[in-house]
Amino acid sequence: MRRPFVAGNWKMNGTRAEASRLVQDILSGWPAASHTEVAVCPPFILIPLVAEKLSAAGQQVALGAQNLSSEAVGAFTGEISGLMLRDYGCQYVIVGHSERRSLYGEDDETVARKFAAALEQGLAPILCVGETLVEREGDETEKIVARQLQAVLERNGIKAFAGAVIAYEPVWAIGTGRTATPQQAQRVHAFIRGQLASIDRAVADDLRILYGGSVKGANAGELFRQPDIDGGLIGGASLNAAEFLAICQAAAASEG
Ligand code: PEP
Repeated sequence: MRRPFVAGNWKMNGTRAEASRLVQDILSGWPAASHTEVAVCPPFILIPLVAEKLSAAGQQVALGAQNLSSEAVGAFTGEISGLMLRDYGCQYVIVGHSERRSLYGEDDETVARKFAAALEQGLAPILCVGETLVEREGDETEKIVARQLQAVLERNGIKAFAGAVIAYEPVWAIGTGRTATPQQAQRVHAFIRGQLASIDRAVADDLRILYGGSVKGANAGELFRQPDIDGGLIGGASLNAAEFLAICQAAAASEG
């Protein structure tokens, strides 16, 4: 049985005061004993503050980052390594988010190297894959997602996915208010699991595949009830504690 997982991607949002309030509100609303796993991924500079709050609360919410360097240490001005993230208590790191791919030129090879760097430092990568609107309309969704997966598989091998999470995030649904229907999302999730199962069924069966793209409290339940959707990677709605908690509760309810 895969443990449901909801991760909040705060992107480049939050002052120290706002982050403190948000994490405090999430902690007060989330039961420590839940079987559903919840994580927050603040901007790098807020990680120490959030780490302190989470550890004071007994770590009922996990900590992640939004990006990492493909290198561990050295002369890489402006970069943050997996080693540093681990040192601050991060367990997860988002790799290959579509904003990194499209705005910062991260190609499949870079993403595969970052995935490797995360695992080397004991972080679980949350690997984002997904097609653009033009690609979906050109009936290329499976081809694009397969290519993105293949690059990571070639460098890291199938066993590496035992320590990872995948997030299917159709680019046209991110921050647009346009969510994939549960059926559209399920079809791609099943395709991803099937691709990996053709190499190693046990790894594929245990792998958590999250959906991301305009998830809200109101649409989370129907998405999370799909058999291959194991939770969500949440952008905009993760900045509002009540909305984020409603999504986490929908994930917990999907187990029943
Ligand atoms: C994201 O950026 O990972 C995301 C899913 O954003 P949003 O929920 O705002 O669409």
